[in-house]
Amino acid sequence: MDMQLLDTVLAERREPSFRAAQVWAWAARGAGSYAEMTDLPSALRETLAERVPLSCLDLDREALAADGTEKALFSTHDGRPLEAVLMRFNDGRRSVCLSSQSGCPLTCTFCATGTMKFARNLTASEILDQALHFTRKEPLDHAVFMGMGEPLLNLDSVLAACERLPDLGIHPSSTTISTVGWIPGIDRLAEHEGPTVRLALSLHAPDDALRSELMPVNDRFPLHDVLDACRRWHERRRRKVFVEYLMLAGVNDRYEQALALARLLSPRNVFKVNLIPYNPTDSDFEGSGREAIEVFRAALEERGVPATVRLTRGRDIDAACGQLAARG
Ligand code: SAH
Repeated sequence: MDMQLLDTVLAERREPSFRAAQVWAWAARGAGSYAEMTDLPSALRETLAERVPLSCLDLDREALAADGTEKALFSTHDGRPLEAVLMRFNDGRRSVCLSSQSGCPLTCTFCATGTMKFARNLTASEILDQALHFTRKEPLDHAVFMGMGEPLLNLDSVLAACERLPDLGIHPSSTTISTVGWIPGIDRLAEHEGPTVRLALSLHAPDDALRSELMPVNDRFPLHDVLDACRRWHERRRRKVFVEYLMLAGVNDRYEQALALARLLSPRNVFKVNLIPYNPTDSDFEGSGREAIEVFRAALEERGVPATVRLTRGRDIDAACGQLAARG
């Protein structure tokens, strides 16, 4: 819901100042229409229904994967595409994967989003509307900024959205912002006054040469500087930094590379590695096999680096990490 438009319409009607909060509380609890907002005067409900659409996003398509993962393809009012994904886990967790931009200006070679045209940053309302779409189906408890875009290039809107996510039942400690390693953004997250959300770093390579090849942004923000920024964040926030490491066969999955990664990630209490099975896109990469991933994980653990393997969700509907390219 466009919160600014809501404020404008309420102000025009000289409504009492608590009305905006009332409307938001209903939306955050999953209301699907103004008619449900029974503590608002009925004339106001009618005006709002005419003038303030419940969502700023149009839903273009939905897809349901065999594992229960659901993808929604939206467009903004100016026709920009974006996607959001609801992951349903067996332990009951309901996690929404949010986009922060339509497309992405970075050009990571393995990621489908990087191949589509970058359109623009999303507003806080457009980010929240992705979550509200799924809240209308069932209560959510986790959010990850791992959809389209680089959240630290749109940090004001991302933080504004994070401030309202608790009203949907998503606590800051259950909210994760994932970054390619945009240092000014990491530093801002360390310093800002708001609640601590979790930080994930897409690392993907244990040396600068390979990382720059996979992620051109590494030329601007090299590995060691990025890891130092993460250490500063940890110093301030006292939470572990999740390191995401995509497993690409024959590229970054060798035993020596696991050892190099373990050497990089010191001190031991700062980082936790999440190994990511590669999800097919149109790129030339192939994912590492299960066994190679397990050997890599064991090598990290032996050297005292905690490492887990990410559960892959929604591959059959192109909803998995790196597959979001608004193909529908
Ligand atoms: N720009 C941010 C947010 C997007 S997160 C970031 O890069 O962190 C998307 C996550 O999915 C990142 O860790 C990204 O590296 C990973 N990813 C991209 N393409 C993938 C693919 N094809 N298979 C699995 N993970 C992928």
